Amino acid sequence: MGRSIQLGRIFGIPFRLDYSWFLIFIFITVLLSYLYFPDSYPLWSPAYYWIVGIATSLLFFASVLTHELAHSLVGIRGGIPVKSITLFFFGGIAHIGKEASHPTTELKMAAAGPLCSIALAGLFYSISWLSSGFNEYVAGLTLWLAYINLILAAFNMIPGFPLDGGRVLRAIIWRVTGNYMRATRIATQAGYGVSYALIIGGILIFFGLGRELGLSGLSGLWFIFLAFFLNSATRMTYRQTTLRESLKGFTAQDVMARDFPRVPRHLTIRELAHGPLLTTSSQCFLVTDGERVAGILTPHQVKAVPRDHWDITTSGQAMTPVENLKIVRPTDGALSILERMGEENLDLVTVVSEGRIIGMILRDNLIRFAQRFHELKM
Ligand SMILES: [Zn+2]
Repeated sequence: MGRSIQLGRIFGIPFRLDYSWFLIFIFITVLLSYLYFPDSYPLWSPAYYWIVGIATSLLFFASVLTHELAHSLVGIRGGIPVKSITLFFFGGIAHIGKEASHPTTELKMAAAGPLCSIALAGLFYSISWLSSGFNEYVAGLTLWLAYINLILAAFNMIPGFPLDGGRVLRAIIWRVTGNYMRATRIATQAGYGVSYALIIGGILIFFGLGRELGLSGLSGLWFIFLAFFLNSATRMTYRQTTLRESLKGFTAQDVMARDFPRVPRHLTIRELAHGPLLTTSSQCFLVTDGERVAGILTPHQVKAVPRDHWDITTSGQAMTPVENLKIVRPTDGALSILERMGEENLDLVTVVSEGRIIGMILRDNLIRFAQRFHELKM
């Protein structure tokens, strides 16, 4: 989440801007002020192209935000906590605390966004129509917004997961079959299908097959770009879904590692790297001070020490001291631990029972655990 800044709250939901948003904002503003408006309204004075262009850009992003708010508000009414909304490169994402537990909730939540965009398109079109006689600036601005909201609705309704249309598709299959994972798999296949279709379409358009429809060869590249974006979003969302599903029902003590090699705190990093680190597959060491555990050392931390300092740095200096460790209880849910590690950017948490360290959970191990469990189930 380090790539975004928080702007404020709407209906209590924090709303953030990804840095990539600034690029796309400039891109759209230039496109509008430099090409679209001068082309469509050649009689305006130059300053107005920029004023109207910037206003249109801002209202476009307000439209995207409204689309995400529609998802979020319907989700919240259905009992799904929405943690934040981030506007980025292509549009927006509402970060939800958990997935819908019922297909109807998912269906309503997924459909709310595109329906909202269609309503916005209608609203902007009406304003454009009403103002066309006496204010060409307002009419021009709202006409473009009407079109773009319609395109936004249409693009999002493509039935490929994780687009809204793909979520609608998943909800319907889920409702019919009663099987959430099967529905997710089918919607995911549809998502891949859409991205391959976009690539083939893009290549055909690139070689001139879209000319009759008014599509230039260059817009083929745009299709291909979109396809790669969708393809990676599909893969990522599917992985997250299986990860969450696999971890459901497990607690910290189910997934933690219990045995760790112990190393004394005075051991130098060179001694550690040439000895215990080579002979064990353990992802972590307990650094001891006599009988007491003083801290924890991971291979990541060892690598962070510059090589020419290996002889003068001890394990005790490189470790994370016990008092700085992030602690979870043995009965905490594995999924909520993974979410916490994601939010706080942690590689490792310590499982503590009655004041004693009983295990360790490394993020990589947790993900591997979920993957293995998922493979065994398939
Ligand atoms: Zn949406």
